[in-house]
Amino acid sequence: GVGTDTILQTRDLRKQFGGLTATDDVDFGIEEGELRCLIGPNGAGKSTFLKLLTGRLEPTAGTIYYDGEEITDLASHERVSRGISIKFQVPSIYPDLSVRENLRIPLQRVEQPSEFDRRTAEILDRFHLAETADETASNLSHGQQQRLEIAMAMTLEPKLMLLDEPVAGLSVEETREIAELLRTINDEDDVAFIVIEHDIDFVETIADRVTVLHQGAIFTEGTIDEVRDDPDVKRIYLGE
Ligand code: ADP
Ligand code: MG
Repeated sequence: GVGTDTILQTRDLRKQFGGLTATDDVDFGIEEGELRCLIGPNGAGKSTFLKLLTGRLEPTAGTIYYDGEEITDLASHERVSRGISIKFQVPSIYPDLSVRENLRIPLQRVEQPSEFDRRTAEILDRFHLAETADETASNLSHGQQQRLEIAMAMTLEPKLMLLDEPVAGLSVEETREIAELLRTINDEDDVAFIVIEHDIDFVETIADRVTVLHQGAIFTEGTIDEVRDDPDVKRIYLGE
């Protein structure tokens, strides 16, 4: 659900790659517990914007506030420690380790060793991974790998999750599973989300609100219905 407090806000956030402005003075805010989708044509600047939020890219100018504090100059791992979780297109799991061993890695950061087994069992169960616990991660299906990665992120009890195209390359069934998972995490754990996604049906299933980026700037924001039926939005997708 949508809370009343802002969890993340950018002010005049800008990223230049030489003469190219990939992020053009963006003022973007989302509320605690909100699930926001970020859409826009190829090259609109979606991934760049997300990388600025994660700390993977340094802005040319502007400010990022998170949970009441400025985080513009914080390293990625410090942002993660404060509850920003990051998931990119390529699953960042450890392919040679088992599912259980993968979960152990983030758990070591937050739990006492005596709690590992109990917490691992809880997470395996919640993310429907119990049957695969001792499987090598590289043997999992693509959808299971995505679920494992989200499970690993959830061990850190984030307040905000950033996902770049989480269902790209997934089957219809796997996409439905991820949609349900994100909605459940959003509802039950009150985690806010910023999700970049192309699949408009997926966006319709999960989003509270949608932000459309175009040429590095916010083009429009609204509910999925408002945005999808906007003739100007259709126009930018057609490249006119
Ligand atoms: P989107 O994710 O919406 O498709 P991107 O954020 O990947 O868009 O890219 C926005 C613009 O910035 C594009 O014109 C892209 O070519 C450019 N760009 C992205 N990353 C870099 C980079 N590391 N160096 C130079 N240009 C880049
Ligand atoms: Mg992208």
